[in-house]
Amino acid sequence: MKLIDGKAVSAEVEFETLSRIEALNARGITPGLAVILIGEDPASQAYVRNKDRTCAALGMHSRKFELPASTTQEEVMKLVRELNADPAIHGILVQSPPPKHIDEHAVTLAIDPRKDVDGFHPLNVAKLAMEDPTAFVPCTPLGCQRLLIAAGIETSGAEVVVVGRSLIVGKPMALLLMAKGKGGDSTVTIAHSRTKDLASVTRRADIVIAAIGRPKAIGAEHIKEGAVVIDVGINRIEDPSTNSGYRLVGDVDFDAVAHKCKAITPVPGGVGPMTIAMLMSNTVTAAERLTV
Ligand code: NDP
Repeated sequence: MKLIDGKAVSAEVEFETLSRIEALNARGITPGLAVILIGEDPASQAYVRNKDRTCAALGMHSRKFELPASTTQEEVMKLVRELNADPAIHGILVQSPPPKHIDEHAVTLAIDPRKDVDGFHPLNVAKLAMEDPTAFVPCTPLGCQRLLIAAGIETSGAEVVVVGRSLIVGKPMALLLMAKGKGGDSTVTIAHSRTKDLASVTRRADIVIAAIGRPKAIGAEHIKEGAVVIDVGINRIEDPSTNSGYRLVGDVDFDAVAHKCKAITPVPGGVGPMTIAMLMSNTVTAAERLTV
């Protein structure tokens, strides 16, 4: 069994990104990312801190907007419009999920698609479906694809089952894997909560991508011998033995599954670091395109 090391691959991606940042710096440009966080969800706060820290480490300009949960829709829309017009900002993201009274879709629509580094704007979703190389692709599936390529996993002709059909992970993951070319050309099935006999579906797969949001949802019975498993899940479970009182686990029962796998990602240290690395890369791409 090979452990797919997301920290090592994300460091490679960040190294490539750094040289692109230097090329921009030579033209007097510093790539800038604006992150909007509405409310005080601790997991979202941790993600935003991480994004901010990585921007700083790469020498990128980062602006963090931590807005109270009482922020109105119009206030968020106004901020997005200001950031759309701000030449120092090349990427804008609104940390998901916002509080319930915020219409997330309307906020996504308001973001300039050229600054939509999360790839959630309908224009970018359509471009991904059309295999247009100018699409901004959501960072997590993009990171999963990069992990497969870096680990030397052949996707062409592979039977892949993606468990989860969200717009953030499952659907774009399936589109990337079925697209023509490197890291694609797979035969893709998407499974979800209504899938009958999930284990019989996933057991067909050469590659299983789990993006469910339920700890240990994928066990040994779901995986065929020699399969590759990419665990996207990040679930906080209580653990009084840790300082924080919780620990992070994936959607896959790692201990039960790992011995059957050809390769598998750990949680933490698998897909998580890739998401941030791809966000940095997307932001630099936005800066390159906006400043030609
Ligand atoms: P969503 O809740 O939006 O989607 C979960 C999907 O899983 C849904 O399509 C749902 O089906 C499906 N599902 C739920 N229960 C089952 C089940 N028992 N069997 C089969 N399918 C099921 O979650 P996200 O896509 O946003 O995230 C998925 C996971 O990935 C979460 O743990 C999240 O924290 C993590 N994540 C990690 C990131 C990273 O950087 N590593 C980034 C983003 C997410 P249905 O549509 O029918 O409800």
